[in-house]
Amino acid sequence: MSAKIIDGKAIAEKLRQQIAVDVAAFRERTGIVPHLVAVLVGDDPASAVYVRNKHSACEKNGLRSTLHKLPATTSQEELLAVVRQLNDDRDVHGILVQLPLPKHIRADVILDAVNPRKDVDCFHPINVGLLSQGRPWFLPCTPHGVQQLLIETGVPVAGAHVVVIGRSDIVGKPLALMLMQKGPGANATVTVCHSQTRNLVEIARSADILVAAIGQAEFVTPEMVKPGAVVIDVGINRVAGKLVGDVAFAGVSEIASAITPVPGGVGPMTITMLLKNTLTAAELATEGRRMKAEG
Ligand code: NDP
Repeated sequence: MSAKIIDGKAIAEKLRQQIAVDVAAFRERTGIVPHLVAVLVGDDPASAVYVRNKHSACEKNGLRSTLHKLPATTSQEELLAVVRQLNDDRDVHGILVQLPLPKHIRADVILDAVNPRKDVDCFHPINVGLLSQGRPWFLPCTPHGVQQLLIETGVPVAGAHVVVIGRSDIVGKPLALMLMQKGPGANATVTVCHSQTRNLVEIARSADILVAAIGQAEFVTPEMVKPGAVVIDVGINRVAGKLVGDVAFAGVSEIASAITPVPGGVGPMTITMLLKNTLTAAELATEGRRMKAEG
């Protein structure tokens, strides 16, 4: 294997230590502990694991975390009422509604109801708009985690051709927006690919940095990777009880210069950025920190 393995677990741990220091300093200044509330509707086992991991990361790093668990039979109106109550609760700084929601509930209606200043997932249209204008309150967790991995690994992003495969609102689209902005860890030339893209192999092969956010196990094969490219694998797929990414790791790691593993790559970074956003939400709420969008 020739590629350097980008150790997301170690990088996430380093960043979490800094966040814990910042949380302690905030607490010292204000007497307030940043508080994240996760809302989980139903019994999806994967969601339960994600929420549990987020909870324990909060606790380990000095943030408060509460789980609001609701039955799968909860109506859209009942869930909206919960979100509104959390919006009004001054003790709650960050609100996270774990997706997916049961089919009878419209996720867009619920996510639009979250107070944008408490929207630690950065899903609200106001936050997406601010992000696209380059003056965000929050950065979306997984794309921010990817960007931090690149920065911490010393990968030159400015001027690089980044190809993102996947255009979801959670990963591909916001990541493309972030990497094309002016600023550190950005200034890239970004191409976004999706299921209708022609010549996907050729486009992927032209990437200096290739990001796979597709949701199909081992989709990215060695012929899609330029020798020496950096490959970031966002995918999490369960195959025969094992977690695998969207990249065929064994073959691609022979060609790439650096690559993230699954697990232990992007995953731990996502939760780390959620911790950061919860601290930011608490700062916005309690210190009246001037938001860039208002300045
Ligand atoms: P979505 O299913 O919402 O989006 C997948 C994207 O991949 C779509 O834009 C789709 O195109 C595109 N795609 C699908 N098939 C192809 C194809 N054959 N060729 C080109 N493009 C294709 O997934 P998410 O963005 O939510 O998640 C992507 C992966 O990342 C999943 O494995 C998910 O589990 C993982 N994930 C990991 C996180 C982490 O913390 N590590 C966090 C969030 C997600 P189109 O739009 O045309 O349908």
